[in-house]
Amino acid sequence: MGQKRVLITGAAGFIGSHLCDRFIKEGFYVIGMDNLSTGSLKNIEHLFPVKEFEFYFHDVTKFVHVPGNLDYILHFASPASPIDYLKIPIQTLKVGSLGTHNLLGLAKEKKSRFLIASTSEIYGDPNVHPQTEEYWGNVNPIGPRGVYDEAKRFMEAITMAYHTYHGLDTRIVRIFNTYGPRMRLNDGRALPAFIGQAIRGENITVFGDGSQTRSFCFIDDMIEGIFRLLMSDYTMPVNIGNPDEITIKEFAEEIIKLTGTNQKIVYEELPTDDPKQRQPDITKAKKILGWEPKISRAEGLKITYDYFKKILGK
Ligand code: UDP
Repeated sequence: MGQKRVLITGAAGFIGSHLCDRFIKEGFYVIGMDNLSTGSLKNIEHLFPVKEFEFYFHDVTKFVHVPGNLDYILHFASPASPIDYLKIPIQTLKVGSLGTHNLLGLAKEKKSRFLIASTSEIYGDPNVHPQTEEYWGNVNPIGPRGVYDEAKRFMEAITMAYHTYHGLDTRIVRIFNTYGPRMRLNDGRALPAFIGQAIRGENITVFGDGSQTRSFCFIDDMIEGIFRLLMSDYTMPVNIGNPDEITIKEFAEEIIKLTGTNQKIVYEELPTDDPKQRQPDITKAKKILGWEPKISRAEGLKITYDYFKKILGK
């Protein structure tokens, strides 16, 4: 049995780069692909000397060519924060639709197992709480988040179609809010925004009244869940996330406490279609993958804070 080969798109991104590390650790040959529109080579430069790692600078919305066999393809290329997809809405739609189509074609050609990074955003502003995989969601197709949400919904649809029509071996992971080292400080997300503001001594900007909820999963737990799903034989969507739910106001207060900076919370306008509540029902992941998160928010936030301090030279 030869060495297994895996293609990871979005390899220079937050989750993609951690996946590259994991597959290298597991003994795979890893081909990382990225067009660096939101990713950064800094996230993977430590892998450049590794001879089992190769990097392709390529935009997956254009025809994708990879020589040799591929056992697995993981599609993690996409802007993923509201600020990013507001800035590059068309590119966001294209990477989820055209990009996914190109990679499905590649997977069909190479007979690869194909896993897509879907998202809790496909549930929109959910009317069912916590969100189970059976819930179809409440998405505004023409709102600012529509370019991301609908691209991801199309991505699930076309992946399922390749599965049923072409018999392609596919996996769908629905990723809930995740955080950890290598997140971008300026991607507009709550966690890097709050930590950055605390470190720089600025006010903490909570959008709306801060009563909206999220459930934050540390990156190591996320990677473990994704890896297990890929290695399982389950082809329906699976939620991966940490069910520990918190309001954004409480979250801001936790970060102020953690950083010991005594910053003031200021309230700003709530962005359009910002989901009021979000919490994964992980019954499926527990049962099918034997997976549940192991790292508490206190532990995970500490690790992430130390990373940001280092990045900012503090
Ligand atoms: N948020 C906030 N202040 C910020 C950035 C974000 O209050 O400076 C809020 C945002 O409106 C949302 C929550 O924090 O309700 C989580 O936002 P994030 O962008 O991290 O994730 P998503 O909305 O995609 O779940």
